[in-house]
Amino acid sequence: MAIRKVAVMGNPVLREVAKPVSEAEINTPEFQALIGDMVETMHEYDGRGLAAPQIHISKQILVMVWDFNPKEKAYLLCLVNPVIKPITDETSSYWEGCLSLPGLRGKVTRPNKVSVTALNQKGEKLSFTADGFAATVIQHECDHLLGKLYIDRMDDLSQLAFNREFQRYHSEGDFDPEEAE
Ligand code: ZN
Repeated sequence: MAIRKVAVMGNPVLREVAKPVSEAEINTPEFQALIGDMVETMHEYDGRGLAAPQIHISKQILVMVWDFNPKEKAYLLCLVNPVIKPITDETSSYWEGCLSLPGLRGKVTRPNKVSVTALNQKGEKLSFTADGFAATVIQHECDHLLGKLYIDRMDDLSQLAFNREFQRYHSEGDFDPEEAE
């Protein structure tokens, strides 16, 4: 496994629509090695999620740490070709961070419940719903596969801050901020 270089805002790879992965490709050693590299890179940069375009691979793959349910042990989730759909009109706002926008945080409003279908790293079909902060993280990651960054989803850029100013002026009383991919 290897730590890959992370693409930051301005790199065109972050603005491409990522290509779907074929089921035949999933079962190759190269693909499995890529997943391993994504996980290692995510951990190295203390991210909680990482999408393949962030390591210059324009494919529909993301990895994330699933630790949203206090009753479950945290585990790694890998989604291939994910499709998400909002299933409520209700929204939530969280301060998001991104390894591709280092040092910044922005407050983003998104639907607070989504349905998710995807393949896992073995090519098995997954189907589940995510709500609250989990829904935000998964939408943030899936946006990377559409060539979108969280700042594209912000309707108020006065809520974009450097980390130090976020901590100084915006963190009190808010949800404990966590680094999204
Ligand atoms: Zn991100």
